[in-house]
Amino acid sequence: MSAPASSTALPTPSTPCPRHPEHAAVGTCARCGAFFCETEALRHGEHTYCEACGARPEVGHLERMRRELWGKRDGWAWLMLASAPLHLTFAVATGMDGMWAWTVLGVANTGVTVAWFLGVPLARPALLVLPPLWLAAFQWKGRDLWVLVLLVPAMGLALWLYASTRVRLYFRQEVDAQRLERLWDARENNPLARLALVFGLAGLVLPVAAPLAMGLGLAGLRRVDPEATPPIGKRRQALWGLGLGGLSLVCWTGWVLSRLSMGLPLIP
Ligand SMILES: [Zn+2]
Ligand SMILES: [Zn+2]
Repeated sequence: MSAPASSTALPTPSTPCPRHPEHAAVGTCARCGAFFCETEALRHGEHTYCEACGARPEVGHLERMRRELWGKRDGWAWLMLASAPLHLTFAVATGMDGMWAWTVLGVANTGVTVAWFLGVPLARPALLVLPPLWLAAFQWKGRDLWVLVLLVPAMGLALWLYASTRVRLYFRQEVDAQRLERLWDARENNPLARLALVFGLAGLVLPVAAPLAMGLGLAGLRRVDPEATPPIGKRRQALWGLGLGGLSLVCWTGWVLSRLSMGLPLIP
């Protein structure tokens, strides 16, 4: 059966799952058309698959990543926790000086960062409120607006975190297939090639990065496989890393040799 069967074609309530007879079937697999039960159903975009089809890489790679990251803390969550004691200290110190407006802000920051770490869904939108609150407090206290220099990037970061697919998954928010695809491309699609490009650029100013860029570029290039499921790409990034690394290495070697031949010290 190659035509995708719709999972809306529901089996009758008494139909047992072919793999788990103790469970009732709740739908038909979008790939093979077999009945599946609730325990094994794998959602991917608009389609739902049985356990066997969901495990196939061409079907399951996005769903596998979604499950892996679902509710799992990322580096930002740990950074939030690390910043909480600072906010709390600020709240206590200003409280002891009777500066209540700042104390309230400090407590709000502590609450949001701890709630973020604990995965409380409200923390995600609440973070957006903090920079405007600080701005309001500074305005109210008649301070100069130089704080905008700090608050504009803070607001930018808050908005970026709010929109981030990785953060949505941490807070167990549903994300659509396109978002998952983009996250997969950034995280899992040949990260070596991406790293090669970063090191290639770094090699232009930092000689030690150049050979690393070449090694990563070679490794990344070997991984490229457009026929694989899912396809492994980023050939161009691997090539750029390799090329930039090679160029830097040639330039730096030439520079060292020319200085040595002129009897000049390597460090001017
Ligand atoms: Zn199937
Ligand atoms: Zn089943």
